[in-house]
Amino acid sequence: MIALTGRSLIAGERAEPSSECFFGVDPAAGRPLPTRFHTASEADVDRAARAALAAQSSLRDAELRACFLTSVAERLADRATAIVEQAQLETALPPARLTGELARTTAQLRLFADVAQEGSWVDARIDPGDPHRSPLPKPDVRSLRVALGPVAVFGASNFPLAFSVAGGDTASAWAAGCPVVVKAHPAHPGTSELVGDAISIAADEVGLPGGVFSLLFDDGLEIGRALVQHPLIRAVGFTGSRGGGLALSRLAAERPVPIPVFAEMASINPVVFLPSALAESSERLAQGLFESATLGGGQFCTQPGLALVPVGDDGDDFVEQLASRFEASRQTSMLTEGIAQAYDQGCQRFDQAGARLRAEGEMTGEHATVTARLWEIELAELKPQSPLLGEVFGPTTLVARYADLRELDNLPNLLEGQLTAALFSGDPAPDPESEAAHRLWQALAQCAGRLIFGQFPTGVEVNHAMVHGGPFPATTDPRTTSVGARAVERFARLVAFQNAPPALLPTELQDDNPRQIWRQLDGEVTRDPVR
Ligand code: NAP
Repeated sequence: MIALTGRSLIAGERAEPSSECFFGVDPAAGRPLPTRFHTASEADVDRAARAALAAQSSLRDAELRACFLTSVAERLADRATAIVEQAQLETALPPARLTGELARTTAQLRLFADVAQEGSWVDARIDPGDPHRSPLPKPDVRSLRVALGPVAVFGASNFPLAFSVAGGDTASAWAAGCPVVVKAHPAHPGTSELVGDAISIAADEVGLPGGVFSLLFDDGLEIGRALVQHPLIRAVGFTGSRGGGLALSRLAAERPVPIPVFAEMASINPVVFLPSALAESSERLAQGLFESATLGGGQFCTQPGLALVPVGDDGDDFVEQLASRFEASRQTSMLTEGIAQAYDQGCQRFDQAGARLRAEGEMTGEHATVTARLWEIELAELKPQSPLLGEVFGPTTLVARYADLRELDNLPNLLEGQLTAALFSGDPAPDPESEAAHRLWQALAQCAGRLIFGQFPTGVEVNHAMVHGGPFPATTDPRTTSVGARAVERFARLVAFQNAPPALLPTELQDDNPRQIWRQLDGEVTRDPVR
């Protein structure tokens, strides 16, 4: 068992204990856990940000960044048992889920190690000069991406490992060459400390200064705010509520020097069932939607909160099958009492806004538990900005029934920005459905970051091509992703070098391409040197 200290970790050293404290909570029992966590001070924020800036130049070496990311993955794997046990105490998530999430976290760190090592993510472009061009000589212009600077990361409650202290935001910021200061989520402070310790050991092991990483504890808003407002912080990564993401974006925009906030927030992930899909496999699809909607207590950003189902016998049969599964479901422990309450309030909003409760799971009334709920409405009753089209975080889905395929054309006008949108149709879809499917696919692409055909949205593959983003309120910046290799691009900016002598060029832009990265040379992608 690794002893917890409850003290923030600043550049490899424990912060002084403070008089303000809080405790982690076992959500299943509603009991505080024994370790006292000391709230960080504004002086701690300042120390962490200064140490981060001082450590930035040490992350310029891509090989070293890759070693560091790999070493963090290894140290986390060494402590897997302790980390999973602690996370289970603090989140009530089952060990199998947490073990899987830890594996995802280490795989993610290794992916970003590969990205840093391979190096082509910097998008180096070279347009060689021509002094003989007429009427004016052509300048030599070379550009690439460089690290933004110290990044503040807010750990998410619903992924205590993969979107938290050593999660995707942190890993991608390191891969870009940015030191990271994490504001730990107060729902899993012990897990955060264990992971933070492993990171400090890894930094030490590869010879990086401690300032590449700091971890600050607070169960209120002050430390997070101070971090976003600190003049040395250059960008923010956040996963959580729409209110939290917007509040931090506002703070960042109001700074004397505004900075970007990459917040991943709310999404209802619509799933559209065309008639031919239900005619083919209504039972299998009902089971699939039920599992996707209730997995992990529905506490996933890709949880399907809206299902579009045709009226008619096949649609009725599908909704009946879905309702019977919701009814037979057992209550779920939520991550925190606050999230359980927010879920119940969201369901009340649905009720007041006219959704009909179609089915509800069994409830025995334990602490921080909720029941799965299925709602129904006619699609024609939904209007833009309806509360029925906002996220209710938890195991609930609204079925909207459509009478005509043409009604689906209005979806992009109804929906806010989404992380995902899924479409099920028969294979092949009969006319005129195939035409409607084509129109719908194009329309959904306007409002979602990931379009999924014939699969449910929960489960996000971490790879080079993945996009986990989308227009507001799915994220604050629709141009990026928070999962997958491209996430590294968020924490970098473009710099061009004009007529720079070879000695002043970064390695990636030098004529002989010493790192053998893919570059754009005169518009052609190549690994060739500049001749
Ligand atoms: P949250 O309330 O947004 O908090 C996330 C983190 O941001 C916490 O560390 C929180 O600090 C901090 N924070 C939030 N608002 C802030 C502000 N105004 N100023 C400074 N710091 C701020 O999210 P949560 O606690 O994880 O869950 C609450 C709700 O968020 C859920 O019920 C759900 O609706 C939503 N949520 C959505 C997703 C998703 O993927 N779509 C994921 C998780 C949560 P403190 O906790 O210390 O206040």
